[in-house]
Amino acid sequence: MTHPAQPKASHFINGEYVEDTAGTPIPVIYAATGEQIATVHAATPAIVEQALSTAKAAQKAWARMTGTERGRILRRAANIMRERNHDLSVLETYDTGKPLQETLVADATSGADALEYFGGLAASLTGEHIPLGEDWVYTKREALGLCVGIGAWNYPTQIACWKGAPALACGNSMVFKPSETTPLCALKVAEILIEAGAPAGVFNVVQGMGEVGGALVTDPRVDKVSLTGSVPTGKKVYAAAAEGMKHVTMELGGKSPLIIFDDADIDNAVGGAINGNFYSSGQVCSNGTRVFVQKGIKEKFLARLAERTGNAILGDPMDEATSFGPMVTENQMNIVLGYIEKGKEEGARLICGGRRADMDGYFIEPTVFADVTDDMTIAREEIFGPVMSVLDFDTEEEVVARANDTEFGLSAGVFTKDFTRAHRVIGNLEAGSCFINSYNDAPVEAPFGGVKASGVGRENSKEAIKHFSQVKSVYVRMGDVEAAF
Ligand code: NDP
Repeated sequence: MTHPAQPKASHFINGEYVEDTAGTPIPVIYAATGEQIATVHAATPAIVEQALSTAKAAQKAWARMTGTERGRILRRAANIMRERNHDLSVLETYDTGKPLQETLVADATSGADALEYFGGLAASLTGEHIPLGEDWVYTKREALGLCVGIGAWNYPTQIACWKGAPALACGNSMVFKPSETTPLCALKVAEILIEAGAPAGVFNVVQGMGEVGGALVTDPRVDKVSLTGSVPTGKKVYAAAAEGMKHVTMELGGKSPLIIFDDADIDNAVGGAINGNFYSSGQVCSNGTRVFVQKGIKEKFLARLAERTGNAILGDPMDEATSFGPMVTENQMNIVLGYIEKGKEEGARLICGGRRADMDGYFIEPTVFADVTDDMTIAREEIFGPVMSVLDFDTEEEVVARANDTEFGLSAGVFTKDFTRAHRVIGNLEAGSCFINSYNDAPVEAPFGGVKASGVGRENSKEAIKHFSQVKSVYVRMGDVEAAF
């Protein structure tokens, strides 16, 4: 019998599901059991061509609609997503392995937030009038054209919406390629947009590995590429986009600092560290994986952290009581286990976890290392799994310098009751998305993105509009033209 997660076909182009079984089969594995639940096929060159030519052809008419009309469609799509939240959350759980307890509140719901927010902005994307005596200049905010979105595997619904919603609000069309690991959810987003009234061809989904992404990025018809992925992929995609002088948004990895001063409320700080390391089993780019704890409260913090981490419920992700799911793939599990071994070898003190859980699926116990030093591999490289490194520090000046000593700059957090210090420290940290007495909140109203190697551009908020549109400036002369001859 066909599994309910099996999509009707692999791709969604020009308003309908499309199949081409000549493409390499991609098995979809449910991470909680290791069972194959679906198969899709990578896009063949013919499918890539169909998606790009369709999106190119659909864009102009979409951009000519009023912002109010485009926005209404996006908001209708948001409503449909909310109505179907349960089914979409179950699918997200099948796609990623994340527990339903999370997917019910974090995935289709945040996708709907993006569709609603950008749907609301679409009607007010206006230009300026700049008076120049009798003459004037006016500006228009125009679409970029055909955009490509490429997603990572941790938030397949959310990433499709975070890219698709602002792109469409601005009058662009999009071809979206999900990660080959999680190909299911973006198809639903495409289906819902059509149901909400989006013209065929404005949002298309094609499956495939990096080579399909590469074919999309290098196509001369493409005007913009928005990638969520790792830094090495980001460098390749950025370089390919530069070759064609295309616009880019790069949402890449991190190794973010979370700084806890000894006046902090310990339970709130522990809660922040848990949210910043163990949500989605640690597969979150903005995670605060270097937890700097001031020496005075170190042991108290570690004891409370170990106690609360012990309350994590590993189990069937479809059981809403489960609060901690598996790694997305066996491969990712092995990568993370490799880092845990490195942590042990290099002398970090294991506080809890540190091994594969004794159950089916790709579960790793939530793991905390203490006495981590700045030069250890687990403190330098992005692990993308449930491995928290606790480092200790003496002074504010010292911790800021150490926190900034990394190629990454996605996020940063600080816990303290001293607000003057909180703002000063955040001001000195090299990071794009920061938190005070909190961690990992990502409301659509707030800009999201990194500095340094963690990325270029911003998603969400009004900032995203700037990255999916461009300004045309028009000089209007009222009098005669003066010329030298
Ligand atoms: P990857 O960088 O491996 O892949 C990201 C996407 O790019 C995938 O769809 C991938 O396809 C595609 N891709 C790979 N090579 C190319 C290429 N040469 N040209 C075009 N596309 C290509 O990341 P993962 O999917 O493994 O995701 C994990 C990473 O993503 C982590 O490092 C994490 O930090 C980062 N991330 C960043 C976020 C952010 O907002 N800053 C959010 C979430 C994750 P395929 O995988 O199918 O081969």
